[in-house]
Amino acid sequence: MWFRRDLRATDNTALYQALQSSPQVHCVFVLDSNILQQLPADDRRLAFIHSALAELDTSLRQHGGSLRVLHGDPATVIPQLARELNCQQVFCNRDYEPYARQRDAQVAASLTAEGRSLHCCKDQVIFECDEILTGQGKPYTMFTPYMKAWRKRFSALLAEPVPAPLQGAIATVPAAQQLPPLADIGFAGASLEGLKVATGRSGALDLLQDFGRRLKHYRSCRDFPAIKGVSYLSAHLRFGTLSVREAVTLALADGSDGAECWLNELIWREFYQQLLWHFPQVAETSFKEVYRDLAFPGEDAWFAAWCEGRTGYPIVDAAMRQLNHSGYMHNRLRMIVASFLVKDLLIDWRRGEAYFAAKLLDFDLAANNGGWQWAASTGCDAQPYFRIFNPVTQSEKFDPEGKFIRRYVPELAMLDNKAIHAPWLAKSLPAGFRLGQDYPEPIVDHAQQRELALALFGRTP
Ligand SMILES: Cc1cc2nc3c(=O)[nH]c(=O)nc-3n(C[C@H](O)[C@H](O)[C@H](O)COP(=O)(O)OP(=O)(O)OC[C@H]3O[C@@H](n4cnc5c(N)ncnc54)[C@H](O)[C@@H]3O)c2cc1C
Repeated sequence: MWFRRDLRATDNTALYQALQSSPQVHCVFVLDSNILQQLPADDRRLAFIHSALAELDTSLRQHGGSLRVLHGDPATVIPQLARELNCQQVFCNRDYEPYARQRDAQVAASLTAEGRSLHCCKDQVIFECDEILTGQGKPYTMFTPYMKAWRKRFSALLAEPVPAPLQGAIATVPAAQQLPPLADIGFAGASLEGLKVATGRSGALDLLQDFGRRLKHYRSCRDFPAIKGVSYLSAHLRFGTLSVREAVTLALADGSDGAECWLNELIWREFYQQLLWHFPQVAETSFKEVYRDLAFPGEDAWFAAWCEGRTGYPIVDAAMRQLNHSGYMHNRLRMIVASFLVKDLLIDWRRGEAYFAAKLLDFDLAANNGGWQWAASTGCDAQPYFRIFNPVTQSEKFDPEGKFIRRYVPELAMLDNKAIHAPWLAKSLPAGFRLGQDYPEPIVDHAQQRELALALFGRTP
Protein backbone atom coordinates (compact mmCIF):
# COMPACT_ATOMS: atom_id res chain seq x y z
CA MET A 1 0.00 0.00 0.00
CA TRP A 2 1.55 3.22 -1.22
CA PHE A 3 0.15 6.23 0.70
CA ARG A 4 0.23 9.64 -1.02
CA ARG A 5 -2.48 12.22 -0.34
CA ASP A 6 -4.57 9.83 1.78
CA LEU A 7 -2.77 9.89 5.13
CA ARG A 8 -5.21 7.85 7.22
CA ALA A 9 -5.74 4.17 8.00
CA THR A 10 -9.52 4.49 8.32
CA ASP A 11 -11.87 4.75 5.35
CA ASN A 12 -9.01 4.42 2.88
CA THR A 13 -10.09 2.60 -0.29
CA ALA A 14 -6.68 1.40 -1.49
CA LEU A 15 -5.66 0.16 1.96
CA TYR A 16 -8.95 -1.66 2.25
CA GLN A 17 -8.54 -3.24 -1.19
CA ALA A 18 -4.95 -4.24 -0.44
CA LEU A 19 -6.00 -5.91 2.79
CA GLN A 20 -8.89 -7.66 1.08
CA SER A 21 -6.74 -9.18 -1.62
CA SER A 22 -3.48 -9.99 0.19
CA PRO A 23 -2.46 -12.08 3.21
CA GLN A 24 0.09 -9.44 4.20
CA VAL A 25 0.34 -5.75 3.33
CA HIS A 26 3.45 -3.54 3.52
CA CYS A 27 2.67 0.15 4.00
CA VAL A 28 4.93 2.82 2.50
CA PHE A 29 5.09 6.57 2.06
CA VAL A 30 7.71 8.15 -0.20
CA LEU A 31 9.10 11.59 0.55
CA ASP A 32 9.21 12.49 -3.14
CA SER A 33 12.55 14.10 -3.98
CA ASN A 34 11.10 15.58 -7.21
CA ILE A 35 8.67 17.62 -5.12
CA LEU A 36 10.81 18.26 -2.05
CA GLN A 37 13.72 19.73 -3.98
CA GLN A 38 11.49 22.61 -5.09
CA LEU A 39 10.46 23.56 -1.55
CA PRO A 40 12.21 25.86 0.95
CA ALA A 41 13.67 24.29 4.11
CA ASP A 42 11.01 25.91 6.29
CA ASP A 43 7.97 24.83 4.25
CA ARG A 44 5.26 24.29 6.84
CA ARG A 45 3.52 21.66 4.70
CA LEU A 46 6.39 19.32 5.52
CA ALA A 47 5.69 19.78 9.21
CA PHE A 48 1.98 19.08 8.59
CA ILE A 49 2.76 15.94 6.57
CA HIS A 50 5.33 14.78 9.12
CA SER A 51 2.83 15.05 11.93
CA ALA A 52 0.17 13.21 9.83
CA LEU A 53 2.67 10.43 9.06
CA ALA A 54 3.50 10.02 12.75
CA GLU A 55 -0.19 9.53 13.53
CA LEU A 56 -0.63 7.20 10.57
CA ASP A 57 2.24 5.08 11.84
CA THR A 58 0.68 4.94 15.33
CA SER A 59 -2.61 3.91 13.86
CA LEU A 60 -1.00 1.16 11.72
CA ARG A 61 0.77 -0.10 14.84
CA GLN A 62 -2.61 -0.51 16.49
CA HIS A 63 -3.33 -2.91 13.63
CA GLY A 64 -0.13 -4.84 14.25
CA GLY A 65 2.10 -3.18 11.63
CA SER A 66 3.90 0.09 10.93
CA LEU A 67 4.70 2.62 8.21
CA ARG A 68 7.82 2.52 6.06
CA VAL A 69 9.00 5.99 4.99
CA LEU A 70 11.41 6.23 2.07
CA HIS A 71 13.07 9.25 0.46
CA GLY A 72 13.68 9.40 -3.28
CA ASP A 73 12.05 9.33 -6.70
CA PRO A 74 8.91 7.15 -6.45
CA ALA A 75 9.38 5.99 -10.04
CA THR A 76 12.55 4.20 -8.84
CA VAL A 77 11.85 3.60 -5.17
CA ILE A 78 8.43 1.93 -5.43
CA PRO A 79 9.36 -0.73 -8.06
CA GLN A 80 12.58 -1.35 -6.13
CA LEU A 81 10.71 -1.94 -2.87
CA ALA A 82 8.16 -4.19 -4.58
CA ARG A 83 11.09 -6.25 -5.89
CA GLU A 84 12.79 -6.43 -2.48
CA LEU A 85 9.63 -7.49 -0.68
CA ASN A 86 8.42 -9.58 -3.59
CA CYS A 87 5.02 -7.86 -3.66
CA GLN A 88 2.85 -8.87 -6.58
CA GLN A 89 0.55 -5.89 -6.34
CA VAL A 90 0.97 -2.26 -5.34
CA PHE A 91 -2.18 -0.39 -4.26
CA CYS A 92 -2.66 3.37 -4.19
CA ASN A 93 -5.41 5.95 -4.47
CA ARG A 94 -5.69 7.84 -7.74
CA ASP A 95 -4.31 11.36 -8.03
CA TYR A 96 -5.51 13.58 -10.89
CA GLU A 97 -2.67 16.10 -11.17
CA PRO A 98 -0.50 16.01 -14.32
CA TYR A 99 2.73 15.21 -12.42
CA ALA A 100 1.03 12.43 -10.43
CA ARG A 101 -0.44 10.91 -13.58
CA GLN A 102 2.93 10.82 -15.27
CA ARG A 103 4.63 9.42 -12.13
CA ASP A 104 2.00 6.70 -11.73
CA ALA A 105 2.25 5.73 -15.40
CA GLN A 106 6.02 5.32 -14.96
CA VAL A 107 5.62 3.24 -11.80
CA ALA A 108 2.93 1.10 -13.45
CA ALA A 109 5.17 0.47 -16.48
CA SER A 110 8.14 -0.57 -14.30
CA LEU A 111 6.00 -2.87 -12.18
CA THR A 112 4.34 -4.44 -15.22
CA ALA A 113 7.73 -5.09 -16.83
CA GLU A 114 8.56 -7.27 -13.84
CA GLY A 115 5.24 -9.10 -13.80
CA ARG A 116 3.72 -7.01 -11.00
CA SER A 117 0.87 -4.50 -11.11
CA LEU A 118 -0.24 -1.09 -9.86
CA HIS A 119 -3.87 -0.82 -8.70
CA CYS A 120 -5.15 2.76 -8.52
CA CYS A 121 -8.41 3.18 -6.61
CA LYS A 122 -10.92 6.00 -6.51
CA ASP A 123 -10.78 7.59 -3.07
CA GLN A 124 -10.09 11.31 -3.26
CA VAL A 125 -13.48 12.18 -4.74
CA ILE A 126 -16.99 10.76 -4.85
CA PHE A 127 -17.09 10.87 -8.67
CA GLU A 128 -13.96 10.92 -10.83
CA CYS A 129 -12.76 11.30 -14.42
CA ASP A 130 -15.56 10.27 -16.77
CA GLU A 131 -18.18 9.41 -14.18
CA ILE A 132 -20.11 12.64 -14.62
CA LEU A 133 -20.47 13.59 -18.29
CA THR A 134 -23.01 15.56 -20.30
CA GLY A 135 -25.68 13.84 -22.40
CA GLN A 136 -23.21 14.09 -25.31
CA GLY A 137 -20.54 12.26 -23.34
CA LYS A 138 -18.43 15.40 -22.87
CA PRO A 139 -16.97 16.81 -19.64
CA TYR A 140 -18.96 19.59 -17.98
CA THR A 141 -17.32 22.99 -18.15
CA MET A 142 -20.02 24.86 -16.21
CA PHE A 143 -20.47 24.33 -12.50
CA THR A 144 -24.28 24.46 -12.13
CA PRO A 145 -25.15 21.70 -14.64
CA TYR A 146 -22.24 19.63 -13.29
CA MET A 147 -23.52 20.08 -9.74
CA LYS A 148 -27.03 19.02 -10.78
CA ALA A 149 -25.74 15.92 -12.55
CA TRP A 150 -23.50 15.14 -9.56
CA ARG A 151 -26.42 15.39 -7.13
CA LYS A 152 -28.68 13.29 -9.34
CA ARG A 153 -26.14 10.53 -9.57
CA PHE A 154 -25.31 10.82 -5.89
CA SER A 155 -28.88 10.45 -4.70
CA ALA A 156 -28.68 6.84 -5.87
CA LEU A 157 -25.50 6.29 -3.90
CA LEU A 158 -24.79 6.44 -0.19
CA ALA A 159 -21.51 7.97 0.91
CA GLU A 160 -20.73 5.07 3.18
CA PRO A 161 -17.22 5.01 4.57
CA VAL A 162 -15.09 2.04 3.59
CA PRO A 163 -14.85 -0.59 6.37
CA ALA A 164 -11.88 -0.38 8.75
CA PRO A 165 -8.68 -2.30 7.92
CA LEU A 166 -8.42 -5.94 8.92
CA GLN A 167 -6.44 -6.66 12.08
CA GLY A 168 -2.98 -8.14 11.96
CA ALA A 169 -2.38 -8.20 8.20
CA ILE A 170 -0.09 -5.14 8.06
CA ALA A 171 3.66 -5.79 8.16
CA THR A 172 6.05 -4.07 10.56
CA VAL A 173 9.12 -2.31 9.21
CA PRO A 174 12.74 -2.10 10.45
CA ALA A 175 13.55 0.95 12.60
CA ALA A 176 15.91 2.32 9.92
CA GLN A 177 12.98 2.74 7.54
CA GLN A 178 10.64 4.48 9.92
CA LEU A 179 9.76 8.18 9.93
CA PRO A 180 12.99 10.27 9.84
CA PRO A 181 13.14 13.61 11.71
CA LEU A 182 12.44 16.63 9.48
CA ALA A 183 16.08 17.74 9.80
CA ASP A 184 17.28 14.51 8.18
CA ILE A 185 15.38 15.28 5.00
CA GLY A 186 16.53 18.90 4.82
CA PHE A 187 13.52 20.57 6.45
CA ALA A 188 14.95 21.53 9.83
CA GLY A 189 13.21 24.91 9.65
CA ALA A 190 9.72 23.55 8.95
CA SER A 191 7.47 24.14 11.92
CA LEU A 192 3.80 24.32 12.74
CA GLU A 193 4.21 27.82 14.17
CA GLY A 194 1.48 30.22 13.11
CA LEU A 195 -0.66 27.34 11.95
CA LYS A 196 -4.25 27.71 13.04
CA VAL A 197 -5.45 24.21 12.18
CA ALA A 198 -4.88 21.12 14.29
CA THR A 199 -2.81 18.50 12.45
CA GLY A 200 -2.94 14.76 11.77
CA ARG A 201 -5.90 12.46 11.74
CA SER A 202 -6.82 13.48 15.29
CA GLY A 203 -6.80 17.15 14.23
CA ALA A 204 -9.09 16.34 11.29
CA LEU A 205 -11.57 14.54 13.49
CA ASP A 206 -11.56 17.35 16.10
CA LEU A 207 -12.22 19.94 13.40
CA LEU A 208 -14.97 17.83 11.85
CA GLN A 209 -16.68 17.45 15.21
CA ASP A 210 -16.38 21.16 15.96
CA PHE A 211 -17.70 22.11 12.53
CA GLY A 212 -20.59 19.65 12.91
CA ARG A 213 -21.92 21.92 15.69
CA ARG A 214 -21.71 25.00 13.42
CA LEU A 215 -22.73 23.47 10.11
CA LYS A 216 -26.33 24.67 10.15
CA HIS A 217 -25.08 28.28 10.17
CA TYR A 218 -22.66 27.74 7.28
CA ARG A 219 -24.66 29.54 4.60
CA SER A 220 -25.13 32.70 6.64
CA CYS A 221 -21.64 32.81 8.16
CA ARG A 222 -19.33 31.49 5.46
CA ASP A 223 -18.53 34.84 3.84
CA PHE A 224 -17.33 36.69 6.92
CA PRO A 225 -13.63 36.15 7.65
CA ALA A 226 -13.83 37.51 11.21
CA ILE A 227 -16.42 34.85 12.12
CA LYS A 228 -15.69 31.17 12.67
CA GLY A 229 -18.12 30.20 9.92
CA VAL A 230 -16.25 27.72 7.71
CA SER A 231 -14.85 24.24 8.40
CA TYR A 232 -11.06 24.87 8.09
CA LEU A 233 -10.84 21.31 6.78
CA SER A 234 -9.16 22.09 3.45
CA ALA A 235 -5.64 20.94 4.40
CA HIS A 236 -7.10 17.72 5.79
CA LEU A 237 -9.04 17.08 2.61
CA ARG A 238 -5.88 17.90 0.66
CA PHE A 239 -3.63 15.45 2.49
CA GLY A 240 -6.37 12.92 3.14
CA THR A 241 -6.27 12.97 6.93
CA LEU A 242 -10.01 13.20 6.35
CA SER A 243 -11.81 11.40 3.54
CA VAL A 244 -14.30 13.18 1.32
CA ARG A 245 -16.83 10.47 2.23
CA GLU A 246 -16.52 11.43 5.89
CA ALA A 247 -17.19 15.06 4.96
CA VAL A 248 -20.16 14.18 2.77
CA THR A 249 -21.52 11.85 5.45
CA LEU A 250 -21.52 14.76 7.92
CA ALA A 251 -23.45 16.93 5.47
CA LEU A 252 -26.03 14.21 4.82
CA ALA A 253 -26.51 13.43 8.50
CA ASP A 254 -27.00 17.10 9.32
CA GLY A 255 -29.40 17.74 6.47
CA SER A 256 -29.76 21.48 7.30
CA ASP A 257 -29.73 24.31 4.79
CA GLY A 258 -26.15 25.05 5.90
CA ALA A 259 -25.17 21.46 5.16
CA GLU A 260 -26.71 21.72 1.68
CA CYS A 261 -24.62 24.79 1.00
CA TRP A 262 -21.46 23.09 2.32
CA LEU A 263 -22.08 20.04 0.12
CA ASN A 264 -22.01 22.41 -2.84
CA GLU A 265 -18.49 23.48 -1.88
CA LEU A 266 -17.41 19.85 -1.80
CA ILE A 267 -18.91 19.53 -5.28
CA TRP A 268 -16.89 22.57 -6.43
CA ARG A 269 -13.83 20.64 -5.28
CA GLU A 270 -14.78 17.70 -7.49
CA PHE A 271 -15.73 19.98 -10.36
CA TYR A 272 -12.20 21.38 -10.47
CA GLN A 273 -10.65 17.93 -10.04
CA GLN A 274 -12.48 16.57 -13.07
CA LEU A 275 -11.70 19.72 -15.01
CA LEU A 276 -7.96 19.27 -14.42
CA TRP A 277 -8.27 15.64 -15.42
CA HIS A 278 -9.99 16.45 -18.72
CA PHE A 279 -8.11 19.68 -19.47
CA PRO A 280 -4.61 19.30 -17.96
CA GLN A 281 -3.45 22.27 -20.04
CA VAL A 282 -5.15 24.63 -17.54
CA ALA A 283 -2.16 24.05 -15.27
CA GLU A 284 -0.13 26.12 -17.73
CA THR A 285 -2.50 28.42 -19.54
CA SER A 286 -5.96 30.03 -19.61
CA PHE A 287 -8.89 27.69 -20.10
CA LYS A 288 -10.36 30.25 -22.49
CA GLU A 289 -8.13 30.49 -25.52
CA VAL A 290 -9.09 34.09 -26.15
CA TYR A 291 -7.22 35.21 -22.99
CA ARG A 292 -4.01 33.26 -23.56
CA ASP A 293 -1.98 36.15 -24.96
CA LEU A 294 -3.06 39.00 -22.69
CA ALA A 295 -0.13 41.36 -22.09
CA PHE A 296 -0.52 42.27 -18.42
CA PRO A 297 1.16 45.64 -17.79
CA GLY A 298 1.31 45.43 -13.95
CA GLU A 299 4.55 46.44 -12.24
CA ASP A 300 6.87 44.12 -10.29
CA ALA A 301 6.85 46.55 -7.37
CA TRP A 302 3.06 46.21 -7.16
CA PHE A 303 3.37 42.43 -7.11
CA ALA A 304 5.86 42.67 -4.22
CA ALA A 305 3.47 44.97 -2.33
CA TRP A 306 0.60 42.51 -2.88
CA CYS A 307 2.68 39.57 -1.64
CA GLU A 308 3.79 41.44 1.45
CA GLY A 309 0.40 42.93 2.33
CA ARG A 310 1.26 46.60 1.81
CA THR A 311 -0.96 47.70 -1.09
CA GLY A 312 -2.74 50.34 0.97
CA TYR A 313 -6.05 48.46 0.59
CA PRO A 314 -6.69 47.21 4.15
CA ILE A 315 -8.76 44.10 3.33
CA VAL A 316 -6.24 42.97 0.71
CA ASP A 317 -3.31 43.55 3.06
CA ALA A 318 -5.02 41.79 5.99
CA ALA A 319 -5.76 38.78 3.78
CA MET A 320 -2.21 38.53 2.44
CA ARG A 321 -0.78 38.84 5.93
CA GLN A 322 -3.11 36.06 7.11
CA LEU A 323 -1.75 33.87 4.30
CA ASN A 324 1.89 34.70 5.03
CA HIS A 325 1.44 34.19 8.76
CA SER A 326 -0.70 31.08 8.88
CA GLY A 327 -0.71 29.37 5.46
CA TYR A 328 -4.48 29.80 5.33
CA MET A 329 -6.75 32.39 3.73
CA HIS A 330 -10.52 32.62 3.96
CA ASN A 331 -12.36 31.88 0.70
CA ARG A 332 -13.99 35.34 0.41
CA LEU A 333 -10.55 36.89 0.81
CA ARG A 334 -8.98 34.57 -1.76
CA MET A 335 -11.54 35.91 -4.25
CA ILE A 336 -10.90 39.53 -3.26
CA VAL A 337 -7.08 39.38 -3.43
CA ALA A 338 -7.12 37.37 -6.66
CA SER A 339 -9.44 39.84 -8.34
CA PHE A 340 -7.32 42.71 -7.00
CA LEU A 341 -4.09 41.25 -8.39
CA VAL A 342 -5.50 40.66 -11.86
CA LYS A 343 -8.04 43.45 -12.32
CA ASP A 344 -6.54 46.24 -10.20
CA LEU A 345 -2.82 45.56 -10.42
CA LEU A 346 -3.12 44.08 -13.93
CA ILE A 347 -0.71 41.27 -13.12
CA ASP A 348 -0.81 37.84 -14.77
CA TRP A 349 -3.00 35.51 -12.68
CA ARG A 350 -0.34 32.81 -12.93
CA ARG A 351 1.99 34.83 -10.71
CA GLY A 352 -0.68 34.96 -8.02
CA GLU A 353 -1.46 31.31 -8.50
CA ALA A 354 2.22 30.44 -8.00
CA TYR A 355 2.44 32.60 -4.87
CA PHE A 356 -0.59 30.84 -3.37
CA ALA A 357 0.90 27.48 -4.36
CA ALA A 358 4.04 28.31 -2.41
CA LYS A 359 2.24 29.58 0.68
CA LEU A 360 -1.06 27.71 1.13
CA LEU A 361 -1.09 24.78 3.51
CA ASP A 362 -4.10 23.44 1.60
CA PHE A 363 -2.54 24.07 -1.82
CA ASP A 364 -4.26 21.88 -4.34
CA LEU A 365 -3.48 22.36 -8.01
CA ALA A 366 -7.05 21.78 -9.21
CA ALA A 367 -8.79 24.07 -6.67
CA ASN A 368 -6.10 26.76 -6.78
CA ASN A 369 -5.99 26.91 -10.56
CA GLY A 370 -9.79 26.82 -10.74
CA GLY A 371 -10.08 29.64 -8.19
CA TRP A 372 -7.51 31.82 -9.94
CA GLN A 373 -8.95 31.30 -13.40
CA TRP A 374 -12.42 32.04 -12.00
CA ALA A 375 -11.22 35.30 -10.45
CA ALA A 376 -9.28 36.26 -13.58
CA SER A 377 -12.28 35.44 -15.83
CA THR A 378 -10.00 33.24 -17.92
CA GLY A 379 -11.46 29.94 -16.74
CA CYS A 380 -14.47 27.90 -17.61
CA ASP A 381 -17.73 29.02 -16.05
CA ALA A 382 -15.98 32.33 -15.42
CA GLN A 383 -17.76 35.43 -14.38
CA PRO A 384 -17.68 37.89 -17.29
CA TYR A 385 -14.52 40.00 -17.28
CA PHE A 386 -16.48 43.19 -16.62
CA ARG A 387 -17.58 42.00 -13.16
CA ILE A 388 -14.76 43.37 -11.05
CA PHE A 389 -14.63 43.24 -7.25
CA ASN A 390 -14.40 46.59 -5.53
CA PRO A 391 -12.03 45.98 -2.61
CA VAL A 392 -13.57 48.75 -0.51
CA THR A 393 -17.21 47.73 -0.83
CA GLN A 394 -16.25 44.06 -0.38
CA SER A 395 -14.49 45.05 2.82
CA GLU A 396 -17.48 47.08 4.09
CA LYS A 397 -19.83 44.21 3.32
CA PHE A 398 -17.88 41.24 4.62
CA ASP A 399 -15.85 42.78 7.45
CA PRO A 400 -18.24 45.59 8.46
CA GLU A 401 -16.62 46.33 11.81
CA GLY A 402 -13.11 45.85 10.48
CA LYS A 403 -12.50 43.07 13.02
CA PHE A 404 -10.55 40.95 10.59
CA ILE A 405 -8.51 43.91 9.36
CA ARG A 406 -7.65 44.95 12.93
CA ARG A 407 -6.41 41.42 13.66
CA TYR A 408 -3.89 41.35 10.81
CA VAL A 409 -3.17 45.04 10.23
CA PRO A 410 -2.81 46.27 13.81
CA GLU A 411 -1.50 49.67 12.68
CA LEU A 412 -5.09 50.42 11.57
CA ALA A 413 -6.69 49.26 14.82
CA MET A 414 -7.38 52.82 16.03
CA LEU A 415 -9.40 53.77 12.90
CA ASP A 416 -13.19 53.82 13.16
CA ASN A 417 -15.44 51.31 11.42
CA LYS A 418 -15.82 53.48 8.34
CA ALA A 419 -12.28 54.77 7.86
CA ILE A 420 -10.72 51.36 8.35
CA HIS A 421 -11.89 50.16 4.91
CA ALA A 422 -10.37 53.10 3.00
CA PRO A 423 -8.22 55.35 5.20
CA TRP A 424 -7.38 57.69 2.28
CA LEU A 425 -11.05 58.62 1.93
CA ALA A 426 -11.59 59.43 5.63
CA LYS A 427 -12.60 63.01 6.45
CA SER A 428 -10.50 62.82 9.58
CA LEU A 429 -8.05 60.29 10.95
CA PRO A 430 -7.10 59.76 14.61
CA ALA A 431 -4.36 62.00 15.96
CA GLY A 432 -1.14 60.04 15.92
CA PHE A 433 -1.99 58.10 12.76
CA ARG A 434 -0.04 59.23 9.69
CA LEU A 435 -1.25 57.82 6.38
CA GLY A 436 1.71 57.14 4.13
CA GLN A 437 3.98 56.53 7.11
CA ASP A 438 2.16 54.25 9.57
CA TYR A 439 0.28 52.57 6.73
CA PRO A 440 0.74 53.00 2.94
CA GLU A 441 -1.37 55.16 0.66
CA PRO A 442 -3.14 52.96 -1.94
CA ILE A 443 -0.62 51.92 -4.60
CA VAL A 444 -3.23 52.23 -7.38
CA ASP A 445 -6.57 53.92 -7.87
CA HIS A 446 -9.31 51.30 -8.13
CA ALA A 447 -11.58 53.32 -10.47
CA GLN A 448 -8.74 54.04 -12.90
CA GLN A 449 -7.40 50.50 -12.86
CA ARG A 450 -10.87 49.13 -13.41
CA GLU A 451 -11.07 51.07 -16.69
CA LEU A 452 -7.67 49.75 -17.74
CA ALA A 453 -8.74 46.17 -16.93
CA LEU A 454 -11.90 46.57 -18.98
CA ALA A 455 -9.85 47.85 -21.89
CA LEU A 456 -7.28 45.03 -21.55
CA PHE A 457 -9.84 42.23 -21.44
CA GLY A 458 -12.24 43.91 -23.86
CA ARG A 459 -9.59 44.25 -26.56
CA THR A 460 -9.66 40.51 -27.26
CA PRO A 461 -11.77 39.33 -30.23
C1 LIG B 1 -7.97 32.14 -5.82
C2 LIG B 1 -8.41 30.91 -5.05
C3 LIG B 1 -7.48 29.91 -4.75
C4 LIG B 1 -7.87 28.76 -4.04
N1 LIG B 1 -6.94 27.79 -3.76
C5 LIG B 1 -7.32 26.65 -3.12
C6 LIG B 1 -6.37 25.63 -2.85
O1 LIG B 1 -5.20 25.69 -3.23
N2 LIG B 1 -6.81 24.54 -2.15
C7 LIG B 1 -8.10 24.42 -1.74
O2 LIG B 1 -8.43 23.41 -1.09
N3 LIG B 1 -9.01 25.37 -2.01
C8 LIG B 1 -8.66 26.48 -2.67
N4 LIG B 1 -9.59 27.46 -2.92
C9 LIG B 1 -11.00 27.23 -2.55
C10 LIG B 1 -11.40 27.72 -1.15
O3 LIG B 1 -11.00 29.03 -0.97
C11 LIG B 1 -10.83 26.86 -0.02
O4 LIG B 1 -11.10 25.50 -0.27
C12 LIG B 1 -11.45 27.22 1.32
O5 LIG B 1 -11.23 28.58 1.61
C13 LIG B 1 -10.84 26.36 2.42
O6 LIG B 1 -11.39 26.67 3.66
P1 LIG B 1 -12.38 25.68 4.39
O7 LIG B 1 -11.82 24.30 4.43
O8 LIG B 1 -12.74 26.29 5.70
O9 LIG B 1 -13.62 25.68 3.40
P2 LIG B 1 -15.15 25.31 3.58
O10 LIG B 1 -15.92 26.52 3.21
O11 LIG B 1 -15.44 24.68 4.88
O12 LIG B 1 -15.37 24.26 2.39
C14 LIG B 1 -15.23 22.85 2.59
C15 LIG B 1 -14.29 22.26 1.57
O13 LIG B 1 -14.82 22.37 0.27
C16 LIG B 1 -13.76 22.56 -0.66
N5 LIG B 1 -13.97 23.87 -1.30
C17 LIG B 1 -14.59 24.95 -0.79
N6 LIG B 1 -14.65 25.94 -1.69
C18 LIG B 1 -14.04 25.48 -2.80
C19 LIG B 1 -13.78 26.04 -4.08
N7 LIG B 1 -14.18 27.27 -4.43
N8 LIG B 1 -13.10 25.29 -4.97
C20 LIG B 1 -12.71 24.03 -4.67
N9 LIG B 1 -12.93 23.45 -3.48
C21 LIG B 1 -13.59 24.17 -2.56
C22 LIG B 1 -12.46 22.55 0.13
O14 LIG B 1 -11.95 21.24 0.09
C23 LIG B 1 -12.94 22.92 1.52
O15 LIG B 1 -12.10 22.45 2.54
C24 LIG B 1 -9.22 28.62 -3.63
C25 LIG B 1 -10.14 29.63 -3.94
C26 LIG B 1 -9.73 30.76 -4.64
C27 LIG B 1 -10.74 31.83 -4.95
